[in-house]
Amino acid sequence: MSKKLIAKPIIKEIYAQLKDELKKSIYLPNLAIILIGDDPAALFYAKNLEKKGAKIRMNVTTYKFADNIRQKDLLDEIELLNEDDSVNGIIVQKPLPVHLDESEIILKIDPNKDVDAFHPFNMGNLVLDGEGFIPSTSAAVIEILKFYDIEVSGKNVVILGRSHIVGKPLANLLLRKSKIGNATVTVCHSYTNNLPEITKRADILIAAIGKPLFVKSNMIKENAIIIDVGINQIQDAKNKSRYVGDVDFDDCLEKALLITPVPGGVGSVTTAMLLKNVVYALKRYR
Ligand code: NDP
Repeated sequence: MSKKLIAKPIIKEIYAQLKDELKKSIYLPNLAIILIGDDPAALFYAKNLEKKGAKIRMNVTTYKFADNIRQKDLLDEIELLNEDDSVNGIIVQKPLPVHLDESEIILKIDPNKDVDAFHPFNMGNLVLDGEGFIPSTSAAVIEILKFYDIEVSGKNVVILGRSHIVGKPLANLLLRKSKIGNATVTVCHSYTNNLPEITKRADILIAAIGKPLFVKSNMIKENAIIIDVGINQIQDAKNKSRYVGDVDFDDCLEKALLITPVPGGVGSVTTAMLLKNVVYALKRYR
């Protein structure tokens, strides 16, 4: 088996499943993306979702607003989407302009349409092992572990990063009494002392800190499994722009047992898991 935990076979399977489900469905799912301003990465992400959605018969509509939109006007737009029965999922793209209050915006989204799973209702259910949406990046990591049949139970899992989007939900999922759970989880952050000592104890190391090539081979143990959530744009020696993870893939490849590449790893599975959440919303809440 290759050392690389690549996304391709996983997403092939997920998209085939979703396509098949929607072929039989009377209703087709609708995802609404709210995009504020003209951040190129956010625009690219929205276009990518539109393209991927079209392939499985999901309608993905991007609602664009100027970056000086008032908080109240944005909340009113979300209310309209909340009330529209044909809309199954709503996501608000980041980054948001600084004058907007992100918490209030997240709270405004109907939890039954909150396919990003950032609403406290869904976050609470996640912590309490209840039903509901799971944030797509965390779901993607779980899906990779499941697909490649990686034993998690009883293992030392170290997560670098404690964000609401990745580190915290993932830690809770891996703590669950479930097949891809029952791990002993350590969560590290920028105040963690002696980081390499902790990462070197990890059977499974998950990096989600947003620091390009941060994890080096001297920070991991022999035969560790490395999951790299990071997506960072850098300029290489020839001044060409490229994407790298939070892990120095080339440096860690030999020492690791298994490792996800960037690109072609967690990020691609994340998109598929988000669309899966929209199909779940259609089935469960319509
Ligand atoms: P945040 O900036 O929200 O959080 C980063 C976390 O890393 C914080 O908890 C921070 O600690 C911690 N951190 C930063 N520097 C260090 C350090 N030197 N040592 C230990 N911990 C550190 O980032 P996100 O969670 O949103 O994203 C993380 C990465 O994942 C980024 O590269 C992002 O692009 C990528 N990403 C990828 C996705 C995918 O689909 N693959 C989806 C979402 C994000 P503290 O809390 O103390 O500040």
